[in-house]
Amino acid sequence: MTESILNVNLITRNDLCVSCGACKHACPAQAIQIQMNDAKGFYEPIIANESPCLTCENRPCLAVCPSYEENFVELAGWSDPAQQIGPYEAIYTGYNTDSEVRKRASSGGIIKELCRYYLETGQVDGVITLRHIEGLEYEPNVYTEVDDVLQTPGSIYHNINFEKAIEILKSRPGRYLLIAIPCQLTSIRKWEQTCREQVIGQIVVTVGLICGWMFTRHTLQHFARWQGVDYADLQNATYRGGDKFGALVLETSTGSHSFSRRPNFWKDAHTIPYQVAFSRTYNNQRCLLCVEHLNYLADLAVGDAWLDAFKHEKDGTSIIIVRKKSVGAVVEELIVSGRLALKPATEKAVIDSQSADLAQGISAQRIINRLKAEGHFAPTYTLPAPVMEQASESVWQKNYLEPKRFREVTWATGGYGLYRWRIIKRWLITFRNEALKAVVRWVKRK
Ligand SMILES: Cc1cc2nc3c(=O)[nH]c(=O)nc-3n(C[C@H](O)[C@H](O)[C@H](O)COP(=O)(O)OP(=O)(O)OC[C@H]3O[C@@H](n4cnc5c(N)ncnc54)[C@H](O)[C@@H]3O)c2cc1C
Repeated sequence: MTESILNVNLITRNDLCVSCGACKHACPAQAIQIQMNDAKGFYEPIIANESPCLTCENRPCLAVCPSYEENFVELAGWSDPAQQIGPYEAIYTGYNTDSEVRKRASSGGIIKELCRYYLETGQVDGVITLRHIEGLEYEPNVYTEVDDVLQTPGSIYHNINFEKAIEILKSRPGRYLLIAIPCQLTSIRKWEQTCREQVIGQIVVTVGLICGWMFTRHTLQHFARWQGVDYADLQNATYRGGDKFGALVLETSTGSHSFSRRPNFWKDAHTIPYQVAFSRTYNNQRCLLCVEHLNYLADLAVGDAWLDAFKHEKDGTSIIIVRKKSVGAVVEELIVSGRLALKPATEKAVIDSQSADLAQGISAQRIINRLKAEGHFAPTYTLPAPVMEQASESVWQKNYLEPKRFREVTWATGGYGLYRWRIIKRWLITFRNEALKAVVRWVKRK
């Protein structure tokens, strides 16, 4: 690999790929392939022959990359710094009144109802969202029938290859509703701008997921091994549905293994192994530098309403940010017709439901500032009200340095050994804390 050639290798060298696949489609020389990097546990671009890059002028692979440069003021039309969660028209909390759809969904089942509406009214010809291929593999697919779109998966938290979405837009005419996490949507919008001549299918509505982070494949690899489930034989992995937390379900050829996603330390032996595997240590590194968790470019963004007001509800409740007027009118129609049960909410509710740090990417911005100050590569993000200060030692250590060191070891060798060691450490700390709490409770009762 030649360090001096400026191309998407800059992103892979820094482990910042999100597997959107936009660089592959933007490369005029078709020199980029997206492949699983088993050591890293995620898909990333490979350039077999860099010679076309020597004469490539505008670096389209970097121009479309969500880990290189983003100007959210321009891309999202977000000029008002007083709007802390990106531009918006309305905010709601609530759920789908079809209880079957709500139960099967990741949170309130809002997305399925929007898909149903847009397909039924003929405002779109298809919905672009995930379908399961095999094992852990999911890919974007076009759904044209309401019944089919209702069967699409809930949230998939492990790394997947999203390149097919652009392949669809390059090859299939029609008007589409696209469902995507923030980095996927940003790259697609940038690809549309950079490669206008290739765009055949039109995205007319975008429904964005609020996204904290995704996980590398090492999460499932290690957790499955600890639980005695054969990772190589995994037929599928799903995370949500059933109730508002849902269960991680690992399917193998010999049966299905279900693990509650809110395990209880005293009751469930998988509590600590689960917490360690699904900690930020296993995130794709770009997720640690993400400032767009709230999906600024989506016409409507949906997430979980993790708020006190709903903590006793058994089924999921969503928080919804309407960013585009025309989609707001559809939401109002769905409320009036009784298909969605929604109540107005506030910007504060959005921030509280995700934590201010995550909602506004505060730690991420600080880490980016520090990386740049120390002469390292980091993405450049333009926001109306950026956080300027450097990362404090604790943010730097806990949110960035520790996961980075861990990843380096995991990728090189002995990742599973380290995983086991972290479980033991965490188990001892949790046991001590839980035992102390139990003693305090016992003393109070006396
Ligand atoms: C990786 C990831 C991280 C998330 N993190 C948060 C968070 O921190 N806070 C929060 O409030 N919400 C988060 N969410 C969103 C939340 O889990 C729900 O997806 C969201 O509330 C929509 O729920 P629903 O019931 O309306 O949608 P559902 O009916 O469950 O539909 C989900 C739709 O999203 C599509 N989808 C699922 N996974 C992916 C994926 N990886 N990439 C692209 N499309 C996908 C499915 O195909 C389906 O169409 C995350 C989602 C993902 C995928």
